[in-house]
Amino acid sequence: MAKTAKDVLNLIKEKELKFVDVKFVDVPGTWQHFTLPAHRFTEDNFTEGMPFDGSSVRGFQTIDESDMLLVPDADSAIIDPFTEIPTLSIIADVEDPITREKYPRDPRNIAKNAEAYLTSTGIADTVYLGPEAEFYVFNDIRYGQTANTGFYAIDSDEAAWNTGRDEKPNLGYKMRTKEGYFPVPPSDTLSDLRGEMVMTLLEAGVEVDVHHHEVGNAGQGEIGLKYNTLVKMADHLLLHKYIVKNVAAQNGYTATFMPKPIFQDNGSGMHTSVSMWKNGSNVFYDEKGYGGLSETAIYYIGGILKHAKALLAFGAASTNSYRRLVPGYEAPINLVYSARNRSAAIRIPVTQNPKAKRVEFRAPDPTANPYLLFSALVMAGIDGIQNKIMPPAPVDKDIYELAPEEKAGIAQTPGSLAESLDALEADHDFLLKGDVFTKSLIETYIDYKRVREVEGVALRPHPYEFYLYYDC
Ligand code: GLU
Ligand code: MG
Ligand code: MG
Repeated sequence: MAKTAKDVLNLIKEKELKFVDVKFVDVPGTWQHFTLPAHRFTEDNFTEGMPFDGSSVRGFQTIDESDMLLVPDADSAIIDPFTEIPTLSIIADVEDPITREKYPRDPRNIAKNAEAYLTSTGIADTVYLGPEAEFYVFNDIRYGQTANTGFYAIDSDEAAWNTGRDEKPNLGYKMRTKEGYFPVPPSDTLSDLRGEMVMTLLEAGVEVDVHHHEVGNAGQGEIGLKYNTLVKMADHLLLHKYIVKNVAAQNGYTATFMPKPIFQDNGSGMHTSVSMWKNGSNVFYDEKGYGGLSETAIYYIGGILKHAKALLAFGAASTNSYRRLVPGYEAPINLVYSARNRSAAIRIPVTQNPKAKRVEFRAPDPTANPYLLFSALVMAGIDGIQNKIMPPAPVDKDIYELAPEEKAGIAQTPGSLAESLDALEADHDFLLKGDVFTKSLIETYIDYKRVREVEGVALRPHPYEFYLYYDC
């Protein structure tokens, strides 16, 4: 049952919480917060909201129109797992203080629009998302001082020592590269750390399916969260990142969700599964269809593949993302679908259970703003379903192994963030349907990513340039 404002105020009293921490999401997809003494937090805050200055938030208002309102969502309230002083943590939506309209650049509002729009189409009344955000844990921040790759880089040999194991004295053994998945301890040194993360997630109300080491031998892990509806799942994903990073920090580690922290080892993806439901049944399931998929699901795939390059502006949202989307590391580069194949961008996980039938898009990674990515996936899917967009035939062979002539004609994931942003600029009408996304949000997003990230990276001397050119 959803929590109400009264429930939240009771919780503050009952647990003698001292502060209320109000969180909201900026356009790149990270949490921002401010904190007020708990006795100043009343029922009025839920109705009248709390004013704040939106001018310093990435992707929000300019300074001349900076006054905005945060309206907390009672159902998102939890007790913060990390503050020493007992604190309530609550997520808020952004509104205009005068008109009280939902702020169209608030990612959470866009996600709510997407859910409502899906229902209005009659295709489904519920969408479930299952993102799998992988991450690395390091016990020593080596970037800034590695020998081979220069400044700001970690190479895989050194990182192999960064598995949480004390490297002095030299134990004479380290895990073989790419064999992290998944021997038992003592090879897996991070089992208890992930366990602590999972317990914290459960306590915060996030249901977990499984945790395991990932293929990257230098401490890569994955915690599988249970699927949920769109806004809830995006809320849970940010909470998941918060918990993973903070549990790591409490144990003297750092955790990173960046997609490719280590040259020549596996990247961290965020495969995202989707299923759509109507009147309690999964409209993506058909026992007789390819891979157990219904016609609706095939058209959903058609929509995702048609708009894949634009979608990756949200899904593979960093310059670093494209160092992951290369052959050889289980990250997809081919924009095709398959019932089995991990080299395809879309995989249909094997299951006999109609309820679990879903479509996994493997190209996204955890740099995505989950509200924007999930909404964009739903919008691309709706476009595919409404316009009966047929995807190219499924490819069930290992695409890495195909002959060159067979490979020709298979579209590839974009090679850079710049390319994905160009694709989004050229292809975004499907996002504007039902006013789910606005042009101003899309333009702001593209501009922010181009100036701050694409140009920001391109203009800086790269570590590998030192390796290649220093002695020229
Ligand atoms: N780490 C891989 C990626 O970058 C995925 C591994 C898996 O299949 O879970 O997508
Ligand atoms: Mg994985
Ligand atoms: Mg997966």
